[in-house]
Amino acid sequence: MENCTEDLIIRPEKSFKPSINFSNLLGNSHFAENLEPIISSLRESQYWPLSKLEQIREERFRNLSHDIRSSKFWSEYFKKYAISTSSSEVSEELLKFPVINRNDFRNWGKNVFIYQKDLNIFKTITSGTSGTPLEIILDKKTASIAYFSFFFRNPIFEKIDLGILNRKFIVSLGNHGLRRWFRDFIYLFSISPSDLEKKEVRQKIYKQFEKIPDGMLGGFASVVLKFAEYAADEKIKFPGLSAIKISSEGIGLNDRTFIEKTFGAPVLNELNCSEAGMIGFECPENLGKFHLNAERIIMEIVGENNEALGKNKEGKIIITALDRIAMPIIRYEIGDRGKLLSEICRCGRTLPLFEFTGRQNNSLIFSDGKKIRSIIIQSALIKSGLAKKCNFIQLKQLNPYDFQFTIIPSPLYSKEDETKIRVILTNLTENRKIKIDFEYKNISDLKNNKPSFFVPLQ
Ligand SMILES: [Zn+2]
Repeated sequence: MENCTEDLIIRPEKSFKPSINFSNLLGNSHFAENLEPIISSLRESQYWPLSKLEQIREERFRNLSHDIRSSKFWSEYFKKYAISTSSSEVSEELLKFPVINRNDFRNWGKNVFIYQKDLNIFKTITSGTSGTPLEIILDKKTASIAYFSFFFRNPIFEKIDLGILNRKFIVSLGNHGLRRWFRDFIYLFSISPSDLEKKEVRQKIYKQFEKIPDGMLGGFASVVLKFAEYAADEKIKFPGLSAIKISSEGIGLNDRTFIEKTFGAPVLNELNCSEAGMIGFECPENLGKFHLNAERIIMEIVGENNEALGKNKEGKIIITALDRIAMPIIRYEIGDRGKLLSEICRCGRTLPLFEFTGRQNNSLIFSDGKKIRSIIIQSALIKSGLAKKCNFIQLKQLNPYDFQFTIIPSPLYSKEDETKIRVILTNLTENRKIKIDFEYKNISDLKNNKPSFFVPLQ
């Protein structure tokens, strides 16, 4: 029985048909039936001794090395760094790989992609923190299985019945990250916070919740928060709602508590990225700390020169994803900072604990060393009502005291708003003497690019 469990974790894709991909999962009983035993196995393995998890990772790493060596690029890469795929010291072999980042992938271009004939490829573009796009590819089948099995392994879903996969079960306020994976399972409301002022919009949303008694709420933090305020005022109840998934812009503890109380469901907090998939989940008994999905992810923390850092030391997060075949992710800098903790979690899970402190390139940095997270500026602008006055707003730090806003104004925007923005930024930078410039653009200047709110000092 035990071998069977391990095998499901090492080769989860084996029991699924090749056609599985994230656009044919709704009502797909073959998918749900085969997913269930994998989720059960992962619920067991989160309590296994680390040595056993280590064996699983070694075997998966050997399988991965074997599979990707068929590509010209990767076989040369293995040769260049003298990596052996048959060595029994897998962790030592892994350290021979150089640490890589987005720029490496950009330089390598399509050479790095592996198009085996049994892979069903999905292409996507991630904009990342600097707003510079990166093309990534995924194998639809393995990526869907990994996403769904680790999503539902989360302790929040311990009692969930996978029967929900037979119908739409997510109400999403705004078109955010959940859509890539849960596309057919979502009732999407493409709205901004100001749309919620209309009673008929709110009532339409409340009605959808009646159809998904054990479903989920997803959305942008600003919209979900606004929706919670109305729902609390109007005393709307959401019995049975299982979780709330908020986009990565994040919320403070007070807002989180308010949202959880209003909807009667926990906020689901995970770390994931398009390149590597599900990395870890917040422990419900140890809020703010995350368990690593160690069955599929190896996490390292390194310093500025990519030197290994010990436990409890903050540095760059480096990820190896053991099930990414079409675009191998080996010792990849995901752009977040964090630390691995030596603490043994009180919940009893043996999966390593870590904290992440957010995007490393996500702060305004001054020459006196002071850092201000850009999310703080963004939230203040949203709170002051600028969200509906601008179709697009971006802040760029040009040098330590020089900032530029790029704005695509809506008809509601006026010259006074410029003064308002100046005051907000000046206050939040604690009255440092800063220069703020404004640049106005048209919507057509954006095209396919999806730039982020903040562009850090380069
Ligand atoms: Zn825990």
